[in-house]
Amino acid sequence: MGDSMVHKCNDPNLRSYAEILKQMQDDEGEQSKTSILQTSVENIILKLYKLNESKTHKPTLMKETHIKLLKKSIHHLDNTYENSDCSRTWLCYWILHSLNILDERLDDHEYSKIVDFLAKCQSPKGGFGGNPGLLPHLGSTYSAVAALCSIGTYQAYQVIDRVRLKMFILSRRRKDGSFSLHADGEVDMRGVYCALAVASLTNLYTPDLFEGTENFILKCQTWDGGFGGYPGMEAHGGYTYCALASLIILGKPDIYDFRPLMRWLANRQMSLEGGFQGRPNKQVDSCYSFWQGACFPIINISLMTKECISQSDYWLYDQKALQEYLLICCQYAHGGLVDKPEIKPDIYHTCYALSGLSIAQMSPRPQIIESNLENKLELIHPLYNLEHTCVIKAMKYFHLRPIPS
Ligand SMILES: [Zn+2]
Repeated sequence: MGDSMVHKCNDPNLRSYAEILKQMQDDEGEQSKTSILQTSVENIILKLYKLNESKTHKPTLMKETHIKLLKKSIHHLDNTYENSDCSRTWLCYWILHSLNILDERLDDHEYSKIVDFLAKCQSPKGGFGGNPGLLPHLGSTYSAVAALCSIGTYQAYQVIDRVRLKMFILSRRRKDGSFSLHADGEVDMRGVYCALAVASLTNLYTPDLFEGTENFILKCQTWDGGFGGYPGMEAHGGYTYCALASLIILGKPDIYDFRPLMRWLANRQMSLEGGFQGRPNKQVDSCYSFWQGACFPIINISLMTKECISQSDYWLYDQKALQEYLLICCQYAHGGLVDKPEIKPDIYHTCYALSGLSIAQMSPRPQIIESNLENKLELIHPLYNLEHTCVIKAMKYFHLRPIPS
């Protein structure tokens, strides 16, 4: 049957299969391990887009199926999560935040039990470990604080020992303004972002705590425009997000080299797939829907601070193509979202794919594909990756409390 005979969803906003097909990579007759892998991913994705074009119903977010999986995951995770035992604060955050994005709340008793668990992860020295008894770590601290803010109850906020938390952040600070993730731990952009995000959410931010941090961040911008984890390292989506969000929190939104950054970022959206890759010559991966996608609203904040440039109504990437990728290629029939088709879902990718989907919908002029309002998600705050009202509520609570000296 020819393409012309295939019934189309009939939405002028969606890319047609013929348009998508034209975007196949051209390896110029030189095959490599990377190009072979890329072709195989593109073929899998093309099949899904072709199948979608033959369907009469519009791409729909299977909200109830994802909610069911997330709620089950609070009590039970299969053995593929065995090595995530040291990251339980992250699992709490990913699940609770995903449910918030889907506008689903748990009952008070359930939240209270999770708060009790997170309280046990808090170290007597300040900060949180990934599991009770583990060393405090800036990553676990960010995820625990983010999970508590996602819950947003008085009991949840009260868990955070702000005096000791400030001491912990200070103990991770290095002379050059960078931060190590834990005692004797690695130093990179994640430490900077986690320290800043936690300090600003809980009203611990002081300029002297972050003296020199902007210079460390600037040294991490690479020759091709993105940001690496440490000066001299290759640019990467996760570190680029951490760098840009950190600069906004520091009140320095426009001190980096803007044009190469924009070129690097815009080129991370894959032409055929519609989703983002983490760095050049890698395959599409749904978690970068957030890590790369959230950079665009942050850039919008930077643009507004530059003279003569007003806020744009849209993000500077193809918001609908990203939504197509997430809705058509990344939803798992039994719940959860996948990195890419033919890979099993996991809680991490579910969280960051949903976060990226929310951002793709919520430019100043909303862009929900096919205007299918059933797909609409809650608004999230691009700097903290928390549901927007959770940020406002937490800041209101913590900003009434003095900054410990
Ligand atoms: Zn990923």
